[in-house]
Amino acid sequence: MKKYLSTADVDRFEELLSGADSIVLTCHVRPDGDAMGSTLGLYHLLKSLGKKPMVVVPDQPPRVLSFMPGFKEVAVYTRHDPYCQSLVENADLLICCDFNKPSRQDLMGPLTESAACPKVLIDHHEDPGCFCDLTFSYPDMSSTCELVFRIIAAMGLYEEMDKACAECLLTGMVTDTRNFSVNIKSPDIYEVLERLLEKGVDKTRIVKEALMTRSYGSVKLHAYALSEKMEIFPRHHASIITLSLEELKRFHYERGDSEGLVNTPLEIRGVVSSFFLREDDDCIKVSARSINEFPVSMVCGDLFGGGGHIMAAGAEFHGTLEEARALLIEALPEYDRYIKGHPDRIDTW
Ligand code: MN
Repeated sequence: MKKYLSTADVDRFEELLSGADSIVLTCHVRPDGDAMGSTLGLYHLLKSLGKKPMVVVPDQPPRVLSFMPGFKEVAVYTRHDPYCQSLVENADLLICCDFNKPSRQDLMGPLTESAACPKVLIDHHEDPGCFCDLTFSYPDMSSTCELVFRIIAAMGLYEEMDKACAECLLTGMVTDTRNFSVNIKSPDIYEVLERLLEKGVDKTRIVKEALMTRSYGSVKLHAYALSEKMEIFPRHHASIITLSLEELKRFHYERGDSEGLVNTPLEIRGVVSSFFLREDDDCIKVSARSINEFPVSMVCGDLFGGGGHIMAAGAEFHGTLEEARALLIEALPEYDRYIKGHPDRIDTW
């Protein structure tokens, strides 16, 4: 297996682990498969090593991830903050997974920052903050779960890894790569997959649970949004979807129900950028995706003060849904020069 990690970092991590008994694992707010997979994966490993691990998440993880082994054992900061606070304050070691800065934990951020014990960061986002004693930051890694696997293997603990740990790590890899179709920078990710499958993991089941299971309302909402609310701007190779609070309510919207919706317009031949504007209680949530390096991060930054990756960005706009939509439509022509090559004509009817 190709070597990514420095021996000194791995040695240091081993040392920190051996000196710790109570270990808290935490992740970013609105935890996804990779955040839950990396923390729960390490949780299962540390348990089999005889440690006392505990996963503390900033807020409630989505129900779709409840199939993950250990899901019920997780402590939720927004629900039991004094309990979570005492867990962090009494920990011997705090391991931060799948986020680069304490601000990504919202209300829980200050607790992480002020923890007195040594802290370790394990993450694959750009631009890691300096709030930990040891930092594993690998933005080229598909997922934090892939990185966690490599750290475990580098410590010589592959044999100690049980099936539950492997299931959690595969869940994160499957969600962040959308079943090995995006975010793969190196083919040796398949070696990691092979080693996880050797633990007896049922990949078909994990893909079904993590990527292909949604509520009735969510499926109906997607259908409605695409059929009734998607606007195509052929000249600018762009798509805009807007959803108001009233519309969301009609489909019994729950957090996460519109997940992935912004990607669908990119499946249309000729569409280069896709914008999804969703009315929230106090702002408009903007999310944008693109292909061929079209800089949606720039669009989100210029118009709404947001940011992100070049082809996956977002923002929060303080104004009405209609204002956000109008602002975007008016600005679209200015970004035509960033469209690479000659994308196909969009055939609408
Ligand atoms: Mn991730």
